[in-house]
Amino acid sequence: MTDRNASDSTSRDFIRTIVAADVDAGTYDRGVITRFPPEPNGFLHIGHVSAICLDFDVAAEFGGRTHLRFDDTNPETEDMRFVEAMKADVRWLGFDWGEHLYHASDYFEQLYAYAEELVTTGQAYVDSSSLEEIREYRGSVTEPGRPSPYRDRSVEENLDLFRRMRAGEFEDGAHVLRGKIDMAHPNMVMRDPVLYRIRHAHHYRSGNEWCIYPLYDFTHCLSDSIEGVTHSFCTLEFVPNREIYDWLLDNLDVPRPQPRQYEFARLNVEHMVVSKRKLIPIVEGGHVSGWDDPRMPTIAGLRRRGYTSAALKSFARGAGITRVDKRVDLGKLEYEIRADLNPKAPRVMAVLDPLKLVVTNYPEGRVERLEAPFFPHDVGKEGSRTVPFTRELFIEREDFAVDPPKGFHRLSPGNEVRLRYGYVVRCTDVVHDESGGVHEVHCTYDPETRGGDTPDGRKVRGTIHWVSASESGSARVRLYDRLFSKPNPEDLEEGEDILEQLNPESLVDVSEARVEPGLLEAEPASHFQFERLGYFFVDPVDSEVGRPVFNRVVTLRDSWAKQQSDTPTRTPEPKTGRPSATPSTPRVYRPEEPMAGARFDDYVGLGLGEQEASVLVQDAPLAALFAATHAAFPDAGTVAKWVVNQVPRVAEGRAVEALPFGGDELAQLLFLIDAGEISGRTGREVLEVLAAEGGSPRAIVEARGLGLIADSGELATLVDGLIAENPDKVAAYRGGKTGLMGFFVGQAMRVSGGKADPKVLQKLLADRLD
Ligand code: ATP
Ligand code: MG
Repeated sequence: MTDRNASDSTSRDFIRTIVAADVDAGTYDRGVITRFPPEPNGFLHIGHVSAICLDFDVAAEFGGRTHLRFDDTNPETEDMRFVEAMKADVRWLGFDWGEHLYHASDYFEQLYAYAEELVTTGQAYVDSSSLEEIREYRGSVTEPGRPSPYRDRSVEENLDLFRRMRAGEFEDGAHVLRGKIDMAHPNMVMRDPVLYRIRHAHHYRSGNEWCIYPLYDFTHCLSDSIEGVTHSFCTLEFVPNREIYDWLLDNLDVPRPQPRQYEFARLNVEHMVVSKRKLIPIVEGGHVSGWDDPRMPTIAGLRRRGYTSAALKSFARGAGITRVDKRVDLGKLEYEIRADLNPKAPRVMAVLDPLKLVVTNYPEGRVERLEAPFFPHDVGKEGSRTVPFTRELFIEREDFAVDPPKGFHRLSPGNEVRLRYGYVVRCTDVVHDESGGVHEVHCTYDPETRGGDTPDGRKVRGTIHWVSASESGSARVRLYDRLFSKPNPEDLEEGEDILEQLNPESLVDVSEARVEPGLLEAEPASHFQFERLGYFFVDPVDSEVGRPVFNRVVTLRDSWAKQQSDTPTRTPEPKTGRPSATPSTPRVYRPEEPMAGARFDDYVGLGLGEQEASVLVQDAPLAALFAATHAAFPDAGTVAKWVVNQVPRVAEGRAVEALPFGGDELAQLLFLIDAGEISGRTGREVLEVLAAEGGSPRAIVEARGLGLIADSGELATLVDGLIAENPDKVAAYRGGKTGLMGFFVGQAMRVSGGKADPKVLQKLLADRLD
């Protein structure tokens, strides 16, 4: 495998360049100290592998150390179970935090003292406004905020109130502590951020000791400072928070030199969602069996699927550290696990979809034990077992064809095939069942071909796997496919829910596969290659003695890429609905031909997704429409999405050049959506009209009354209806499941046919639900 270990990745990314400069300049005499700071509100995922490798690798490369710190300041969502699972995951990856296990909740007392310091120095105040008022006074990106009426409370009054907040004299929401910074600051985060809130809730570690809890921005920089962290790495969504990180440390009496925050791009993987918060509804909604379901992008799920820590680390390190958001091809992850398992996993035989094969000239009752090596391709590797050969065998149903297509080298009437490590057999008869399907096949075997060689040198092209019917065992085999059908499951249309993107065929459960007898004793958590089928892992949770459950880790090759290059199609997105007994892995998009490759790179440079770029490279008329539209509408990524995904849909098989609209009209349509005059969903309707009749997008919108409903009276009636219809969801939302906002927005969009103005809608919903 491409054995990327920690030291190979020292090829300097921007983070390592910064750390090296600090080390050279002697900025910190405490050495390099990093931390990995997850919030224990779920399980770690593959994106975290990237953060963990960065935190631990960088410290190790510079002779420093890494702390594991639980960022546990949210009493409602955190849980000991998550803490333990996260520790197990980091350890399994092979990293060691030594004695440096910390919890932000350990610092509650010190954090409180820092907060009092801010109050005393006049840099924080107690605000008694409601959260809604605070939100309203904060202004927007385009308007400055306004000061709260409580902003000028005296230091004494603030101190008194803050102490009484701590003492439990007030109810949730009665007051908050805010930094006194600048209500007109261009960075919204700096408009007097809330630092503490009242929450009478039980905390999984501190119990009921506290009823005020510090917020992330206050906690994080100070936890780093308390632990002596030097370099604090996080993902790009925290860029705006860097200013408050520095402001707090600058304005408090903390040890110097203080830690600094640096941001890098999240690791995203195609067909996966990597954010705990977005994974919670998948688990809680019962769409998978739990956080460690082998389809989950969690470390625990991938481990249970059969991924190794070496493969995950190699993948994360190979993806590198940048400041540009990326979504990495799933094929790269699969490549890593194949490369890791190839030299390690013994080859064995199993039949997933058994078809009986009767060797009519083989004596009944005879059992021959045939020698079969575990590593047939690797002469250096020892080890073999015997497989029983009998008169009745099972072969894979798809390895037989009554009417073989051209190029089919497996078994068909009258033809010969080699049974792996066994004999050459010739099909003499097919027995059909009542419905005309194949019930069993009859063959004769050639006794001279034991082991598979033909002494007369005749050619037998196909070799298939098999097991004995009477001497094999039964096992459960689970074939997993991607959890989300779309490469980017987060690319949602308005009102669409991410759960709608779940791949309904992500699991094929084969309850009665036939396996060679030795496999019944397979150790839990061991790996095998089932010849011709893929790599499998003995599920450590569901397997029982003598009754193993095998999870397919990955297929043997990237069959999706092959399928694609055989039959080029316009949209390289996998079709769902395909029988997925052999689910495929995604294609590699960049074409090999140099000119096409260069055009592909240009498209990607413009900001297009790899998938869109690969389609445009292959399709000249679409590329021309893209260019014409992009000449008028500046956002290339949006143009590409519409040209690649929507235009072929409305063309319904017609040539793109023959459609009654061109780049100008498409650009006008995109401007209407961009300006918020119509929704994306309506935009697609307008495009259908354009494709059918031509015309001007604006005229179509006006003639058909498709503009957004921005009238708050009309929308309020709709929202009230929804609230009345969904009392359970409303209660859950008010109980803290704020993720349900997505549900309400989605429903409102559906009811309004996609015409509700999202801004007005969101505000109405927030008002009515809070
Ligand atoms: P949540 O959705 O609850 O915010 P999360 O998935 O973002 O969860 P955190 O606990 O917030 O996880 O993250 C812990 C650390 O891991 C942070 O420093 C964060 O920046 C980093 N991290 C989170 N997701 C990724 C990712 N996809 N790629 C790289 N680093 C990540
Ligand atoms: Mg996060």
